[in-house]
Amino acid sequence: MPKILGEPLNTPRVDVDALPLFQGKGEKAKGLLLYVHVPFCHSRCAYCSFHSQVFNDVTFSWYMKTLLLEIELWGRRLKRPSIATIYFGGGTPSLVPLNQLQRIMEAIHKHFRPMPRMEVTLEANPESTQDASWFRGLLSLGINRLSMGVQSLTDDDLKRLDRPHNARMAVEAFQQARQAGFTNISLDLIWGLPRQRLKQWLDQLKTISRLGPEHLSCYNLTIEEGTPLYRQSLEMDLELPYEQEQGKMFIYGAEELESLGYLQYEISNFARMGFESRHNQGYWEERDFLGLGPSAVTTIGNRRYRNPLFMDEYDAAVRGDFSSIGFEELDEQTRLTEMVMLALRTSKGLDLKEHRKRAGFDLVKTHEKLIKALIANDLARINRGRLRLTKPGMAVSNVIMERIALAEPPAPSSTPMSTPT
Ligand code: SF4
Repeated sequence: MPKILGEPLNTPRVDVDALPLFQGKGEKAKGLLLYVHVPFCHSRCAYCSFHSQVFNDVTFSWYMKTLLLEIELWGRRLKRPSIATIYFGGGTPSLVPLNQLQRIMEAIHKHFRPMPRMEVTLEANPESTQDASWFRGLLSLGINRLSMGVQSLTDDDLKRLDRPHNARMAVEAFQQARQAGFTNISLDLIWGLPRQRLKQWLDQLKTISRLGPEHLSCYNLTIEEGTPLYRQSLEMDLELPYEQEQGKMFIYGAEELESLGYLQYEISNFARMGFESRHNQGYWEERDFLGLGPSAVTTIGNRRYRNPLFMDEYDAAVRGDFSSIGFEELDEQTRLTEMVMLALRTSKGLDLKEHRKRAGFDLVKTHEKLIKALIANDLARINRGRLRLTKPGMAVSNVIMERIALAEPPAPSSTPMSTPT
């Protein structure tokens, strides 16, 4: 999952029994998105700022006990709700032994109501996968989608990133999964790497597409403070591609993938027709989601809960019936800002009519100058009532979204405004 990490909030205490369930219209019928965070990895990668620790048996068995209890508690509180998707993210969920994954899946089936054709994704890293029979074991548990952390098919890149696998292991893991019968596999790649140039990135995409995955997630390398890569960047020139070259890598990379049959349906995500990630699409459509495990985030209705980052605090929170977990009450302004930010990440774009209905004003009028400038510069388009970013617009989406978010909503007016379509 796109992980949302944060410090526990110093905000009101949860009265879990008083949870407003599924406030969004039709949420109950659509089902909940369930995310399970597995905070363990083989080792730390040089760029990683996610919440994870090196796997050890003692902490893992503590985690399992707490997680199973958390599943039971939320299932009870939410009155055994329907779930549309499950996503095991991390960390490295493929480190969890099959018999333990089975316990988690059984607990989910016992305390929630899986919907027919539920999408169940497991993030897997090449160093922790096994042979085809291990992959068949995953299928037998109901896991029907894999998201594999390949990151690069060049060994030098993988070494620089401190990834604990090489390119050959990644290809073999993919082939074992195929042989076992997985028909929905996504591969993660990182671009904008030290010493990487446009041609190498485009070559990577051609090579990876020959494997034939159904889905690709391509993330721009970000150097986060506190990571080993950040410390290296202070000591030496990492020879990262310049900004202009990074822009080309994004735009030409997306064009290359589309020519290979992968549609860009979100800034970083590409899929063959019908293989978009239903779980992640749910986030971009602001669906309710329940996050389990340390650091996981939940949003139900207008409330957002963040589990503590560390095992001891997480365990105490769950055993204390969540009474120590703070929540954030999302006001309408925050939800509207999120609606715009999330929708503009997608190729579908923002439904202007829906936005006007919720916001009470017309974004195209209130941000007229900005939107006209974006359209004139081929950074955005309005088409069939939706505001969409073009590929060049997506390449600078952070700046555009910041400008839109910073613009003030209008003073209340008695004259209804309309949206040009
Ligand atoms: S595998 Fe993923 S979560 Fe684990 S250390 Fe590497 S980047 Fe971080």
